[in-house]
Amino acid sequence: MNESDWEALRKAAFAARAKAYAPYSGFAVGAALRTEAGVILVGCNVENASYGATICAERAALAAAVCAGERGLAALAIASDAPGPTPPCGICRQSLHELAPDLVIRSYAAADWAEYTLASLLPHAFGSDQLV
Ligand SMILES: [Zn+2]
Repeated sequence: MNESDWEALRKAAFAARAKAYAPYSGFAVGAALRTEAGVILVGCNVENASYGATICAERAALAAAVCAGERGLAALAIASDAPGPTPPCGICRQSLHELAPDLVIRSYAAADWAEYTLASLLPHAFGSDQLV
């Protein structure tokens, strides 16, 4: 991933954010996953009156990737208008770990961004190797 790749991913995440359905929180989020081959899959948060049925942008993008038959997920950009960068929530970290444990993540906010690795956000992750 070079900076040009990240810029394309950032733009895709913000474009996805524009489609978010967030009437309850007002917190619109977009996410864009990039495969090692350069394919970009996007998602946005989709809230629900039954709050627990809400899906985050990161998991929506993950579902889009799986549905498109994509694997080899290498990078994730998250877009919000929060004052500072927002890392993925705990459920999304766990979901992303399933298919992309080595994911590199950049979270873009209104005026700042931050980079994380999924491994740093979810140490000692639970995975299929723990299943007996
Ligand atoms: Zn989440």
